[in-house]
Amino acid sequence: MKKQNIIRAIVVFVALAIAVFVAIDQTLPPDALPASVPGTEFSAERAIVHIKGIAKEPRLVGSAGFENARDYVMGELRALGLSPEIQMTTATVPAELLAQLGAPPDLPPEEVENVIARIEGTETQEAILLVAHLDSRNSPGASDDGSGVAVLLETARALHAGPPPRHSVILLFTGPEETGLHGAVAFITKHPWIEDVKLVINFDAGGLTGPSELTSTSPDKGWLIREAAKADSSLYGTSASGEGSSDFNAFKFYGFTGYAFDYSWDRRIHTPMDTVENLNPASIQHQGYHALSLARHFGNLDSLEDPKDPNPIYFNILRLGFVHYPTTWVIPIMLVVVLGFAGVVALGFRRKVLTPAGIGLGALVYVIGLITAPLLASSLWALLSNVIPTYQVTYLGHAPNEMLLLTFFTSTTLALTATWYALIQKVRQVSIPDLTIGAYAILAIATVGFAIAMPEASFISAWAGLFCFLAVGYWFYSTKDDFESFSVGQLVALALAAFVAIAMMLPIIIASFMASEANDWFLPIAIMVMLLGTLVPQLQIITRPNKWWLPAAAWITAAVILVLAALG
Ligand SMILES: [Zn+2]
Repeated sequence: MKKQNIIRAIVVFVALAIAVFVAIDQTLPPDALPASVPGTEFSAERAIVHIKGIAKEPRLVGSAGFENARDYVMGELRALGLSPEIQMTTATVPAELLAQLGAPPDLPPEEVENVIARIEGTETQEAILLVAHLDSRNSPGASDDGSGVAVLLETARALHAGPPPRHSVILLFTGPEETGLHGAVAFITKHPWIEDVKLVINFDAGGLTGPSELTSTSPDKGWLIREAAKADSSLYGTSASGEGSSDFNAFKFYGFTGYAFDYSWDRRIHTPMDTVENLNPASIQHQGYHALSLARHFGNLDSLEDPKDPNPIYFNILRLGFVHYPTTWVIPIMLVVVLGFAGVVALGFRRKVLTPAGIGLGALVYVIGLITAPLLASSLWALLSNVIPTYQVTYLGHAPNEMLLLTFFTSTTLALTATWYALIQKVRQVSIPDLTIGAYAILAIATVGFAIAMPEASFISAWAGLFCFLAVGYWFYSTKDDFESFSVGQLVALALAAFVAIAMMLPIIIASFMASEANDWFLPIAIMVMLLGTLVPQLQIITRPNKWWLPAAAWITAAVILVLAALG
């Protein structure tokens, strides 16, 4: 019996580990393509040649660095057979836009030098506008936004190598962006080609690596998401993600339709470390896939008129695909999840496996974890950033080694919650079904709360909840009398549910961690506890041979990471 428990614990542990590995893999950008791929494809290696050409020194508008970059881009566009022009003017950013950006209201007008080129469409004057900014601040600006400039040049080259699009494609390299979006405002308010622009696609970088995420769109994005899902097989993003910054804000302010893409891990932009050597070619490749596939798709679409369909819910499922459905589905899905939960609870009481007191304790220990884990993470960060020299320097609020820090906080969160579960078992023996339903009750409540208050984030708990409730329903239904000995079929069902929960939630944890400010751990850690709550039966199976091994292992892992971080 004891030996069987150990075997089950190992099997479930391995299944969870594989799920974690696959879920993390989903968040990594695709491999960079070499310069040897056919000319109609986007190659990060070819794009990086352009970054080397422009990212040599800081380049605010008017500086020698800017002039070099501007001349380089003009030369490359001419080499493609295009007739680029420079829009030289001054521009003032409207006060309402500055207020939206949180910028000082008295930002002075600035000199603008935009580089603009046009690939003529074969059928219409209507145009897709690709945007990146040419200037950089305090840095060689390889990633921010040399990457965007290179993505536009390599995309233009690849488009040119294929059949010409029906609609035009306009390339806009703005300057300045870093000091207040004057370049974008000048193009929008003063350039005649703005009349032709039907769709804007912006490329910028808030970091040196990471997946290229769809960070913003114009409002009422039903059509935009539908078309992007059709066109772009590497589309990455969720309806729960926040708003990006950059030139796209100006286009959105003036009512244009479009997308903004951004990669933002390792936030050493705006420092001398934003160099070609430090950026990740895979992130450039990911940006390039979006740029080329969307330019081709929209360039040949019948109509570029955005019907302004309502916002959908959307997210990636591992590397298997991009899911999107109307927001009107959120409440029906939530009702199915809640009914599923109610069914499991009813079944549990009928089989006499649940007790109200046990469920209450299960819910209590879960809520204690939900409150204490983010508090622990915040206090530890406050302590760490004072003690570890490498953590006293942060970039845009982020510690130098984000993944190490995330692993550290994952370890402490797992350690703390596992400790609470072990402690409650010491005070009073609570059955695995009671602990499970206690945690799932909170998950069901969260699903209702999301559906009502934050429908765009509802998918995070709803799908994980549904699969977990189904698996536990099967477990309750198919067990004869011993609810602590799991059959192979039950283990498979629980492993599948865990796989769905981890695949849905772990990428969200990573994304919200990467998007948060360094002292604001609450959201990622709370989602982490929520994920651990969906995994209560699996974690209980793992800790059955000895309830202290998991918290002990997690505390030791956290301590080891701390030593590694201290060593730099
Ligand atoms: Zn930028």
